[in-house]
Amino acid sequence: MGEEEKGEEYLFKIVVIGDSAVGKSNLLSRFARDEFDHNSKATIGVEFQTQVVEIDGKEVKAQVWDTAGQERFRAVTSAYYRGAVGALVVYDISRRTTFENVKRWLDELNTHCDTTVATMLVGNKCDLENIREVNVEDGKSLAEEEGLFFIETSALDSTNVNTAFEIVIREIYNNIS
Ligand code: GDP
Ligand code: MG
Repeated sequence: MGEEEKGEEYLFKIVVIGDSAVGKSNLLSRFARDEFDHNSKATIGVEFQTQVVEIDGKEVKAQVWDTAGQERFRAVTSAYYRGAVGALVVYDISRRTTFENVKRWLDELNTHCDTTVATMLVGNKCDLENIREVNVEDGKSLAEEEGLFFIETSALDSTNVNTAFEIVIREIYNNIS
């Protein structure tokens, strides 16, 4: 099919933010390549990965950005946020502090992005039910307060990972069409 026959194309920048080790890089690798990494090595290099999804018969490119570990030093730069139209704000359901820090990440997102950003609050590692420190209800009510979508995921067993990204992508698409 020729370029001219494809019709419109969409490219959406989506950022993944949240405390160190909540599973941001693994959510992305699960979404983009269906891979999971058991080693907790710091993310190296890759700035973003592009995944093509189809919405209403249109090709949408989701360009998902991953931090290179800067979040450990609270040093995520404005370049990281520039042009973002979607965000996943991730915490770890087995570590309460990562949930308590969500508000800071939302503040940071608001500071750097002036346009509407379709945002999903993501409680990751829901496979760790036995050591859960954050109830589903807590996640839900924070999301309601802040006007965010909410979902629990597991990058380990794949629960809801694609859904989390797809809801955000769909919302961005709805916002612009
Ligand atoms: P990041 O620092 O937020 O990018 O987190 P990583 O993706 O590097 O993951 C940090 C650690 O958590 C690694 O040891 C992963 O294997 C582990 N991890 C990530 N996602 C999950 C998950 O859904 N369930 C479990 N049990 N472990 C996870
Ligand atoms: Mg990482």
